[in-house]
Amino acid sequence: MAEPAVHKDPFGHHRVTVTRIVPMTATVKSYTLALQDDATFRFKPGQYIQLYVPKGDQSVAKPYSIASPPDQEREIELCIKRVEGGYVSTYCDRLAGGESFEIRGPIGKFFLREPIDSDLVFLATGTGVAPFRSMLRGLFPIGPGDTSWAPYQFSTDPAGPLPVRQAGAGRRHAWLFFGVRHEDEILYESEFLSMAERYPTFHFIPTISRPGRWQGATGYVQDHVPKHVTDPSGKQVYVCGLMPMIEAARAALKGMGFQREQIHYEIYT
Ligand SMILES: Cc1cc2nc3c(=O)[nH]c(=O)nc-3n(C[C@H](O)[C@H](O)[C@H](O)COP(=O)(O)OP(=O)(O)OC[C@H]3O[C@@H](n4cnc5c(N)ncnc54)[C@H](O)[C@@H]3O)c2cc1C
Repeated sequence: MAEPAVHKDPFGHHRVTVTRIVPMTATVKSYTLALQDDATFRFKPGQYIQLYVPKGDQSVAKPYSIASPPDQEREIELCIKRVEGGYVSTYCDRLAGGESFEIRGPIGKFFLREPIDSDLVFLATGTGVAPFRSMLRGLFPIGPGDTSWAPYQFSTDPAGPLPVRQAGAGRRHAWLFFGVRHEDEILYESEFLSMAERYPTFHFIPTISRPGRWQGATGYVQDHVPKHVTDPSGKQVYVCGLMPMIEAARAALKGMGFQREQIHYEIYT
């Protein structure tokens, strides 16, 4: 009799311990998960993990984008918004630190298309900025560990366009349009401001939909793209957030003349 086919899970499983929890806003916290085994965790910035939390005598898994800088291989950072009535996000919100979980990953195809030889436009709302924080820490190094970003294969053709990683001295530009409701909800704000200060080709455009005394951009994130990005040619766009924002961004980008193959999405369902 033929042996039944064995379907091996192509994704790695790891035990992790919560080593650090930092409130970022009233509803979002940053969680650092340290790997318990000796393995290193290599991922492409933009990918996500499945986090398993207990529910009765079972467990339930939810996907969360990896927010860590790409050369951080022993710890994984997540940023999770507590959703009203949501099981896993509320469970995480109640953690004190020291707890252990199983994760599965890295998973997903939402990473930068290689070789990275185009200008990059990022659109995010809320915790949808998490995958971009990871990508941007690799593209525009600001931390001491950021410079050893190895997993990425940039274009090595000396006659080709400069890798975006060298964009501070080069030709390629990246824009981050980041929409939140209130000005105290701009996640990783100081990091993005440092990048913008250090690299003239990185442009950070936070937009606030319910402004108080905010002097910067207001309204919806997609409405600001045409003011900064005038020509779609030679650009790749990455969009991450909840479905209504993805749909609005898709329509706006189409209206600007972006082709379908230039636009990449991660939808937080
Ligand atoms: C690829 C991927 C990556 C993701 N990465 C992140 C991340 O980095 N950070 C993060 O916070 N979330 C992320 N999410 C969303 C996350 O997986 C969960 O959906 C979210 O935490 C809610 O799970 P829950 O178990 O708490 O809620 P559930 O018990 O599943 O659902 C509660 C209800 O809330 C709704 N809901 C879900 N998310 C939101 C939201 N953000 N705002 C308002 N209503 C919502 C659901 O539609 C549902 O009706 C990601 C989703 C995907 C698909």
